[in-house]
Amino acid sequence: MQELKVKGSVITKNDKGFNEAIMATLFNKVDPRKRPFLMVKPQNTEDIIETIRYAKSTEKTISICSGGHSWSANHLREGSILINMSGFNTYEINKEAMTAKVGPGVIGSKWLNELFRQDLFFPASHCKGVCLGGYLLQGGFGWNSRKLGLACENVIGIDVVTADGAYIHASETENSDLFWAARGAGSGFFGVVVCFHLKLFKRPEYCGSITHVYDIKYLEEVYRWAYEVGPSVPKAVEFQLLMSRSVLKFFGMGIEVAAPIFADSKEELEEAKAFMHNSPIKKKAFVRTPFVPTGMEAMHRFVMGHFPENQYWGVDNMWTSATIDELLPYLQGMAKNLPPAPSHMLWLNWHPGVRKQDMAFSLEDKIYISLFSSWTSHADRRKYEKWATDWMKWTSHLSSGIQLADENLHNRTASFLANDHLKKLDEIRTIRDSDQLFNAWHSRPQV
Ligand SMILES: Cc1cc2nc3c(=O)[nH]c(=O)nc-3n(C[C@H](O)[C@H](O)[C@H](O)COP(=O)(O)OP(=O)(O)OC[C@H]3O[C@@H](n4cnc5c(N)ncnc54)[C@H](O)[C@@H]3O)c2cc1C
Repeated sequence: MQELKVKGSVITKNDKGFNEAIMATLFNKVDPRKRPFLMVKPQNTEDIIETIRYAKSTEKTISICSGGHSWSANHLREGSILINMSGFNTYEINKEAMTAKVGPGVIGSKWLNELFRQDLFFPASHCKGVCLGGYLLQGGFGWNSRKLGLACENVIGIDVVTADGAYIHASETENSDLFWAARGAGSGFFGVVVCFHLKLFKRPEYCGSITHVYDIKYLEEVYRWAYEVGPSVPKAVEFQLLMSRSVLKFFGMGIEVAAPIFADSKEELEEAKAFMHNSPIKKKAFVRTPFVPTGMEAMHRFVMGHFPENQYWGVDNMWTSATIDELLPYLQGMAKNLPPAPSHMLWLNWHPGVRKQDMAFSLEDKIYISLFSSWTSHADRRKYEKWATDWMKWTSHLSSGIQLADENLHNRTASFLANDHLKKLDEIRTIRDSDQLFNAWHSRPQV
């Protein structure tokens, strides 16, 4: 077997520490029991081009990771070559042009903190650790995304190494097919993104949150109210409900109703606060905060309370526009056998407007429900792993599809793009990666 000669590091199956190095790429500690043939951490673009040449000559497929936050360990494929882009973690901010060039290995939360310090903003991920590589490709539901758009809508170009080893730029006017694909294909993208060119925003004048917390006995009232008020909740609010067996980490089973707000004026802030302030059920909440202004660090810390590290996770999701009467029996069922915290059920009030951009991303709906079961001991895998998958199977008749962000495509196939967009993506792939060098999603619907 020939050798892979690169400036960066290479670790192969027979090397000491290989298993640990591969498992260290995963946020979700569930071992998919699939191992690449080797992992390369390129130091520069030439290393990526050389790895592509090597993969072709050895007839191996390629997977890529940046931050390793794919819940389904999408980048671990048996016998393939894994390109680990975590080292591409530098960025340049151009405050005058309100743009940035960002490596795929940049951690979104850290970068957003830096932007914030410079009075700038970008709809980066809610959680610490998620890297911009996978996040931007799949859509990117980030802070203030209801107002600023999906993160991928704010990508203005990419630098990418293609399956034929070319290093090119793609944008609306250059290699526009690749640019179209890179905004929504997620783990089905067929190229190695080396740099994203992004549009930046001004930091909102007011950032903070209002929280109401309810005992689980009010489940029906809380979700009925959330459903009714949802369509009129201003875009400056990321209205969401989180059900868990330990709300705010100290209490018992209940529902945290959170309204993070990003407002550009006092007037917008007042308008955003009103629906929580006027909530007819708010007296039943045992915790009720006013609007508490915070920085991004505090917001990230709050969310991370629900996503601790070094845990095993079973995750699945659905978009829906079902009626609340259709959804309620299932919400009650999920509550009954919800695994212990930090497992939780997230209800996100999305209600998208009309998307102005033509891009691969094409599937969303009024409400987003995602289930996260979590456990600390390998022995509990059997008990909790299927909870999310099972509920999403049982509710699939109410689902219009899934978000790739929380995909579970190794356990359950579901739609994640509109059919005509998936077809177009297939056509682009046939041209750009005719030998299917790059592994795609674990599974996909037929079109
Ligand atoms: C704790 C947690 C919180 C999350 N919060 C959010 C959230 O708030 N909003 C949201 O939208 N999503 C969220 N996600 C989902 C997350 O955005 C996706 O899993 C995303 O793919 C992670 O990006 P990554 O680079 O860290 O992961 P990776 O696992 O490294 O990447 C996922 C896939 O993207 C592709 N990919 C990655 N880098 C490249 C590259 N450079 N070139 C080509 N292809 C590449 C590969 O196919 C790879 O398998 C969260 C996930 C976790 C685990």
